Amino acid sequence: MSDLILFWHRRDLRLSDNIGLAAAQQQTKKVVGVFCLDPDILERDDVAPARVTYMIGSLQSLKERYNQVGSQLLILQANPTQAIPALATALNAKAVFWNWDVEPYAKERDRTVMIALKEKGIQVHNNWDQLLHPPEDIRTGSNQPYTVYTPFWRNWSSKPKAQPVETLTDVEGLTQQEKETAQQAGTVELPTAKELGFAWDNELVTAPGETAAQEKLEEFCRHAITEYKEQRNFPGVHGTSQLSAALKFGVIGVRTVWAATLAALEDSRSDETEASIKAWQQELAWREFYQHAMYNFPELAEGAFRKTLKNFPYDNNPEYFQAWCEGRTGYPIVDAAMRQMKEIGWMHNRCRMIVASFLTKDLLIDPRLGEKYFMQNLYDGDLSANNGGWQWSASSGMDPKPVRIFNPASQAKKFDPEGEYIREWLPELRSVDTEHLLSGDIPPMERYALDYPAPIVDHNKQQRQFKERYQQQKALSN
Ligand SMILES: Cc1cc2nc3c(=O)[nH]c(=O)nc-3n(C[C@H](O)[C@H](O)[C@H](O)COP(=O)(O)OP(=O)(O)OC[C@H]3O[C@@H](n4cnc5c(N)ncnc54)[C@H](O)[C@@H]3O)c2cc1C
Repeated sequence: MSDLILFWHRRDLRLSDNIGLAAAQQQTKKVVGVFCLDPDILERDDVAPARVTYMIGSLQSLKERYNQVGSQLLILQANPTQAIPALATALNAKAVFWNWDVEPYAKERDRTVMIALKEKGIQVHNNWDQLLHPPEDIRTGSNQPYTVYTPFWRNWSSKPKAQPVETLTDVEGLTQQEKETAQQAGTVELPTAKELGFAWDNELVTAPGETAAQEKLEEFCRHAITEYKEQRNFPGVHGTSQLSAALKFGVIGVRTVWAATLAALEDSRSDETEASIKAWQQELAWREFYQHAMYNFPELAEGAFRKTLKNFPYDNNPEYFQAWCEGRTGYPIVDAAMRQMKEIGWMHNRCRMIVASFLTKDLLIDPRLGEKYFMQNLYDGDLSANNGGWQWSASSGMDPKPVRIFNPASQAKKFDPEGEYIREWLPELRSVDTEHLLSGDIPPMERYALDYPAPIVDHNKQQRQFKERYQQQKALSN
């Protein structure tokens, strides 16, 4: 058996601060990366072109990084349960290393790959990398997984966090003969997103690749993090990190991100700055909370966590759903947000909450439809975070608050007081005066002239309906 270790990248598209990769380097000098373009994932009907474009761009950059350190990134385009064991066998690899994932599909796939490799006498080595604390480490006093964020945060934040691990450097790659063997075992050139059938011509919010993610983190930690607590709720302000896709695909290591927050805390000179940095740390903890939840309760991926919402009688009016998707509901803040997502593949968190509440509580549409539409459009679309966000907004998840309904007009007045955000994404409403823009109460003649629809539903009426149905469901489920 050779000294070769194959490192299977999935949600860790980087060489720096990668726990599994650092562990592989400790065992051998010959570490070769592999990524598998899985048709079972890419052919789903919830894949966003922007997300694939970001992933392919990050793989391109990873490929270059491997070349710089003396090795290669191999690409497979096949079902990994067969392709990974076949490649490892053909190359006579000593072991395959990879980092765990929390998603139900990934857990099942990994189990199958592991069995196949072991049957062939190839070692398998796994680590937790994408989380600061693995799910097994954060449990209640009675050793149960948490279902409420605040006690989770208390436990999670009290635990010491690991430092970033060493970057892969100076390794050996495949010989010419091994490269030919790899090709015979199915490796291909990295295709473009377009070649895979995903066209995305707009600029990405964060450029792909490790360097861009690192620069974005540094830039955020120099300025915006110090005012995050105040600014993060205003969609018209660039007050958040926009690191979500980099974190989703592991283009940046979460320990590196955490270390940057600690450095920012050391430099902070006021209580306000410190509170802001801690507020951002709490968002990183939300990310982990939802990943732990998905790991411990995989049924979350299928539907409501709370009994009362399991068989909720949604209307699912297809015309309303279409209007919501197209940003033509007649509620300017909702429409602006939906257009932002369509154009740049990212939506501000405040607006994700507003449009999700609107879909489920005002339009009385099943959150799973919205959740899927988000996955079809977000460049940072991530099962755990998206599902967590939707269940929170639909009051169907773990959040203990029974019914939370956002009033679009009040949200707009509070968080987009000058209407900057609405005007940016709904250019047809640029001339409308701010009061009308925020309330959504645009005079009919003006609306007609601007070709902007009247509100498709009445917020007050709809929220009453939702509450009535909720009470009925509650009585039924008790
Ligand atoms: C309905 C709904 C759907 C969502 N779908 C996704 C999704 O598919 N992918 C995704 O990454 N986030 C999702 N979120 C969470 C959040 O909106 C985004 O993470 C955030 O807007 C990304 O922007 P940012 O990187 O500038 O965030 P920042 O405010 O800078 O936060 C830093 C990081 O913390 C994490 N984070 C922040 N807020 C949350 C949160 N509420 N839940 C989980 N992680 C969080 C993200 O990794 C984010 O990059 C969703 C939220 C809602 C309400």
